[in-house]
Amino acid sequence: MRELNCPGCPGRRTPRQYLCSACWRTLPAVTRGRLARRDQHAGLRLRELHTALAARTPLGVIRVSR
Ligand SMILES: [Zn+2]
Repeated sequence: MRELNCPGCPGRRTPRQYLCSACWRTLPAVTRGRLARRDQHAGLRLRELHTALAARTPLGVIRVSR
């Protein structure tokens, strides 16, 4: 399967994932639940995730809106 760089660590992710499975498991449960929803706000939440990662926010405290 094709793999991409994980934005949260030097590891790899599949195209269907925002993060590798190790990073994904480190996110707070509420953040995972929101990011897993695919609605009209999904792009906004993904931008919030990437903004937090760019600011070097620890994965365990990253929150996204809605
Ligand atoms: Zn990762």
